[in-house]
Amino acid sequence: MKLFYQNKRIFILIVLLIFLATSILLVEKAIYQNKQFAPLEVSFLDIGQGDATLINFQKNYQILIDGGPSGKKVLQELAKVMPTFDNKIEIIISTHPDRDHFVGLIDVVKKYDIGQILINGQQSDDELWQEFQAEIARKNIQEEAVGEGSKLNIGSDFQMTFFNPDKIEKNRKAKNDSSVVARLDYSKNSFLFTGDAGFDAEADMIFDHENLDVDYLKVGHHGSRYSTSKFFLARVTPLWSIISVGENDYGHPTQETMDRLQKSGSEIFRTDQLGTITVKCPDKQKSCLPLH
Ligand SMILES: [Zn+2]
Repeated sequence: MKLFYQNKRIFILIVLLIFLATSILLVEKAIYQNKQFAPLEVSFLDIGQGDATLINFQKNYQILIDGGPSGKKVLQELAKVMPTFDNKIEIIISTHPDRDHFVGLIDVVKKYDIGQILINGQQSDDELWQEFQAEIARKNIQEEAVGEGSKLNIGSDFQMTFFNPDKIEKNRKAKNDSSVVARLDYSKNSFLFTGDAGFDAEADMIFDHENLDVDYLKVGHHGSRYSTSKFFLARVTPLWSIISVGENDYGHPTQETMDRLQKSGSEIFRTDQLGTITVKCPDKQKSCLPLH
């Protein structure tokens, strides 16, 4: 009788152990399947009217360009595209001190470990910009101004090159035209991130013979009629154009810009229609694919 009870206990223990092991395996599998990353993923986050783009390189190196107008929204979307258990964003690029681009970054800086912050060199009296700067100082994060000629090399096949602002623009009044504009190259795939740059900045980059020809264009200033000129599009020749836009009173994206993009033969993707758009680059030699 005693032996029977002992055997029964061992039997129950074995069943419990098998159950536990299976549960752990299932949970791990779910996490893995949920977060299968391509070597490079670029996610244009659906954060309403504004910009927030996460570049995820090799699953462990992230660059966040702008944070949109709301901390709550950007944290929600980041949680979906950041690798599980990764609490570090290596670089934040704040393209210019406009609320629809930087306000969300305040909460991002509070929640995540940030390696470095790159700005366009402009400061602002906006109390929320001051709060953003205070948070950066409190967490002792290095902040640096970038512009034309700056470069960021992350491995031999992953580079960022900055085209804007240039020295002249630092004295300009127009905030949008002083946006950080950056090109990303990953092997044969290329992206152009334009912030809210308009005709002036575009003309300036054409004049400076910047290498503007890319596959993916983050359309300037949410599709404003004063951005994305036909001359600029003739240089960029984007196969795919992504418009980061939400409900707004400015008429973004405007029909004029949509027409220019269509005429250029580019395929158009909008965050207000598709939600967060992720471009996945499977490996160095192959082309990236937009998914949403
Ligand atoms: Zn904007």
